[in-house]
Amino acid sequence: MKRVIPAFICSLAICAAIACAVVVFMRFSGLIDNILSPGKSSVNNRESKITVVIDPGHGGTDGGAVGVSGILEKDLNLEVGTLLAGELTRRGFDVIMTRTDDVMLDNGSSSSAKVSDLSARLEIVRSCENPVFVSIHMNKFPDSSVNGFTVYYSSNNPDSELLAAAVRQSVTDSVQPENKRPMKAAGNSIFLLSRLTSPAVLLECGFLSNQREEALLSDPEYREKLVCAISDGIENFINRGSSGSKV
Ligand SMILES: [Zn+2]
Repeated sequence: MKRVIPAFICSLAICAAIACAVVVFMRFSGLIDNILSPGKSSVNNRESKITVVIDPGHGGTDGGAVGVSGILEKDLNLEVGTLLAGELTRRGFDVIMTRTDDVMLDNGSSSSAKVSDLSARLEIVRSCENPVFVSIHMNKFPDSSVNGFTVYYSSNNPDSELLAAAVRQSVTDSVQPENKRPMKAAGNSIFLLSRLTSPAVLLECGFLSNQREEALLSDPEYREKLVCAISDGIENFINRGSSGSKV
């Protein structure tokens, strides 16, 4: 009996050590996280397959819209796009940007500079295996009272409308509860959305022709709040899954 008890205690110690090792392994391999957070696991399983392509519109000699106080759309697009790329990366997504500097792109074709720029952006998206495309722009309108975030979506993939709805919902919930602007299907006039077959949206983040909205978009704190809401929408879309095989 004297020998049985130490042997029993010894066996218990070995079992406990093995159990600890298994728990440590599961913790570091993410298995426990996935078991405890099944919703999150779907993101983790998917994120390696998805590349979120952030496209800050315009750049270089193409300044885009000019705000009432003279601010250039291309600069705000790059600010918002860079923030968005950083936030999505922090959340664990694979992200690339079509531009990270104040430049127009060039795909080497003999087309006009604008077509060459847009074609180069198109090629970047198409080079990704499983892209989710988010183009960042600022709006302008002759009536300076018009304001508000607006989402355009590509008609080439039903997931684009789901992505647009998720982003619009998140932005109206968190940033612009008074925004009644409906999301819109992009026509052929939007070069990239009319050509891409992956989930693709273009976000008009606000009207630079509206003094109040231009001031908001020039405020780093507001931009961070907006980017957080856009990121929530993109993450909700990816979590929700899709009806097609693209995501
Ligand atoms: Zn633009």
